[in-house]
Amino acid sequence: MQKNNRKYLIAGNWKMNKTAAEARELIKEINAVVGQKTDVAVAVCPPFTALESAAELLKDTNIQLGAQNMYPKAEGAYTGEISAVMLRELYCSFVILGHSERREYFGESDAFINEKVIAALESNLKPILCVGETLSQRESGEMLSVIETQMKGGLKGVGEDNGENIVIAYEPVWAIGTGKTATPEMAQEVHAFIRKLLVEQFGETGTKVRILYGGSMKPENASELLDQSDIDGGLIGGAALKAKSFAELVTIAQSKS
Ligand code: PEP
Repeated sequence: MQKNNRKYLIAGNWKMNKTAAEARELIKEINAVVGQKTDVAVAVCPPFTALESAAELLKDTNIQLGAQNMYPKAEGAYTGEISAVMLRELYCSFVILGHSERREYFGESDAFINEKVIAALESNLKPILCVGETLSQRESGEMLSVIETQMKGGLKGVGEDNGENIVIAYEPVWAIGTGKTATPEMAQEVHAFIRKLLVEQFGETGTKVRILYGGSMKPENASELLDQSDIDGGLIGGAALKAKSFAELVTIAQSKS
């Protein structure tokens, strides 16, 4: 069941997978099955190099485009980086920010992620802000304080007027790419906590923000996760790289809409 008018969002995070040619093939396959569905919001986030061809293929479909990262400055001497304006030019609607892989391998701090969130919103890009605890943080009882720090740090300075332009993805680090999924109850506990933080920051608008679950979500486990009252979709890694499993996830979300 769709909750409080929050349309389910199924978003694929392709990470560093698929050349532009391979991306075109996958997008054609996904589009053939789910491109015209309107009850569920669908997004794909290919690597930067595939965005332009993806945008071309996704024109006139219901599938939206997202990027996996950006730099917070508008332009300048930042070799190798990509700005929000550049992503908007390629028709991106979303940008994934603060993914745990970027936090871990590229040392991204909450303050830096926050700069990106603000810059994305200024360019009308919707940030998908990722938060999540490691296994040792969960086991040592720090889980909720880690989530609170990442949420408050990442969303610092974001006002109620922008609340609905934000998407949160709860991705327990120990469940990403490992095949281990949080049980629906474990995920819901954190989603409810995130909802409380969103309401504290955005008031009523906080009840309208979508909170996605990410971490080995696949057709076999999606239904129960999506049934939880604060789970509004999924950020999908591995299962987004095959049209069949990604389309199945969209179909499952649609059956609950
Ligand atoms: C992700 O990295 O965003 C993710 C959820 O990956 P996976 O589905 O492969 O665990």
